[in-house]
Formats: sequence, structure tokens, C-alpha cells
Amino acid sequence: MQHQPPLWPSSLGYVERFRPDNPVLFFSPRVLQATATRFQRGFPGLVTYAVKANDLPVVLDNLVGAGMSAFDVASPHEMAAMRRVQPSAVLHYHNPVRSRDEVAIAAGYGIQSWSVDCPRELGKLTDVQRTEVSVRLRLPVSGAAYDFGAKFGADPDQAVDLLREAAAMGFTPSITFHPGTQCADPQAWAVYIVEAAEVARRAGVQLARLNVGGGFASHRNGEAPDLEAIFDRIDQETTRAFGAARPELVCEPGRAMVAEAFTLALRVKTVRRDGAVFLNDGVYGALTELRDIGLTDRVRVIGADGSEKGGAMTPRVVFGPTCDSIDRLPDPVPLPNGIEEGDHLLFAGAGAYSAAISTRFNGYGTQEVVTVDQL
Ligand SMILES: *Cc1c(COP(=O)(O)O)cnc(C)c1O
Repeated sequence: MQHQPPLWPSSLGYVERFRPDNPVLFFSPRVLQATATRFQRGFPGLVTYAVKANDLPVVLDNLVGAGMSAFDVASPHEMAAMRRVQPSAVLHYHNPVRSRDEVAIAAGYGIQSWSVDCPRELGKLTDVQRTEVSVRLRLPVSGAAYDFGAKFGADPDQAVDLLREAAAMGFTPSITFHPGTQCADPQAWAVYIVEAAEVARRAGVQLARLNVGGGFASHRNGEAPDLEAIFDRIDQETTRAFGAARPELVCEPGRAMVAEAFTLALRVKTVRRDGAVFLNDGVYGALTELRDIGLTDRVRVIGADGSEKGGAMTPRVVFGPTCDSIDRLPDPVPLPNGIEEGDHLLFAGAGAYSAAISTRFNGYGTQEVVTVDQL
């Protein structure tokens, strides 16, 4: 029997009724399942979920419930978490650098795909079962919030050699890439797809699959990103670049799968005379990512009577709860002039890289998860 958490009608209603003094992450299973369905209907291939974006059991459980069967895991811990939720889940181990002990543990989990970006890492796979090796390709592509190519990936020349070597070892040869996170520009994928086809052609290898990574932007500012436009472009470019040798497609969204399913509710601890606001969570907690990819403008301020505060706004310095002076948001946040102690801030689209990164520094950084229908 599965444990069913109580379902509250809405985050707003919950905040109005309980005025929570500690951070709350409101989770809507309905929204998560709808996003999973959107990916599975719209993406022209296999959709896997990058577990690192949010590994809460309720998230993994609801993704399985929405029909997701394959997951990108980066560590033995994530493999165990996934297996607990779904013993039959297909696991792709797409962290290209692994210790030999990790390789042995992962082999025990029955990994179906390994990403590799250099001969040394490929060499560590000598003894594992001959499943898929996906060569991680790297190009200088801009368009994302930050560059994933800076840490992992083989340049095209190296990728040609790796692909040949993986095929010679008896692995199913594939290519994978990651255009960089919070990427809204379809061109970033197109450039990679063209180069992947070129690498496969030069290697003389028929690719089984092309994994176009994650990176799909979530809704942080302005209009929501057009995921279908990205899916369509990926589809068209793959056909154009590979022709008759078109591989199966795979994607591995983290952020765009889970972000919209959560709203983070924080409380104002005080407003200083200079206008600075102190919150009960910050960059050591669920807002860690704001330091790296900037503010979101999807913030509502809820007063004691449960109504949203509007009117004139002033950019304010916002501090988190710890005693560390770098515990502040990267830029001033425009907030209503009427904001006061006890108000709540609701950050929409807060499901990715929030709970997953949060630290317990100074005794803060916990977020209660409350299941709601309406975020
Ligand atoms: C982090 C990561 C992802 C997910 O990236 P998002 O930007 O959250 O979609 C996918 N694949 C790999 C290999 C990753 O490291």
C-alpha cells in the first residue's frame, strides 16, 4: 500500500490558514504528471528524467505513475533511490567521470547506458556488460545559463576515436550531449545534432541513439519557454543531419520536468529600516541556484489576510536566515512597498535544484513538502 499524503486544495489556502513559520515546498502531483505527459507526447523519442534536479521520492513516484520508465542517474545513491521507487526502472549512468568502485556498484544495478568522454573512463568499463556507451560530445555553444561543456565532454576529434573504440569493444555506440541548463534557444540543440552526425560519419559508426541531454529551460521570467518548438527543431535537424542513418532520440530533462510542479513559500522575518528583507531561507537553502542563474520574477507576496500585495514596488536587498553575510540574493528583488514582517513570499516554478541542493547550514535549510492540487 502506498502512503497517500493529504492533498490540500491550494498553496494560497494553506498559507492563509497555517501561516507557516518554516519554509514550505508546495508540490502538485497533477502539474508534475502533466509535464511528464507533455514531454512524452511532444518529444520525438525516449524521455528520461535527470534525477539530480529533484530526487524526492514523491517526485520519482509520480513520474513513474505518469509512465516514465527510464532515468538518468549520476551516483550510486541516485541508483538506490530510483530502485526503491521502481525496481524495474531503466538506468542511464550519464556522469562521465566515475571511480572504479562506482563502476562496480553501478554494474550491479544493471546500467543500460554509460556516458564516456575520454579513453581513460572508457577503459574503466572493460569488465561491464556490453550495453550502450554514449560518447559525451562537447562544443562551444552559447545560449544556456551556464556552460556544461566546461566540465565534461570530448571534442569532435576525440569523440570520433571514442566512438570507434566503444564499438570495437562491443558496446552499442551512441552520442550524448548537454547544451547547458536553462536553455531556451533551439539552435543550441541544432548545432550539436549536426556535429554529432558528422562525428558518427567520420567514425564510420552507425549511431544507435542520440541523446540530446537536458537543458530545456523552465519558466523563470517573462513568457514560458516554448518546449514544443525545441522538440520540433530537434526532430527536423535529426532527420536532416542523419538522413537514412537517423538514430533513435533520447532526452534527459531535469529542470523543465520538475520546476513547475513546486512553489516555495518563505516568510519575512523582518524588514529593516533601510528596507532590507530577511527571509527564513536563502542561498544556503532552496534558493541556492539564484546565485548562479539569477532571479526569477515569479514571486507573489501574501499578507496576513491571505491576499496578494501589489502596488508600487521597490528593489530590496534580500537576506537569508543564517549568520553569514554572503547569505543574500544576488541582486535586489522588486517587492511591494507594503511588505512587512510575517508576510509570505511564494516563488513559482521552484521544483528544480532547490530541495536537491539545500544545505542545513546554521540549522536552517529544511523545507516541509506539502501536497496541493493548485499551486
Ligand atoms: C544535469 C544533467 C541533466 C539535466 O539538466 P537540466 O538542465 O536540469 O535539464 C541531464 N543530463 C545530464 C548528463 C546532466 O548532468
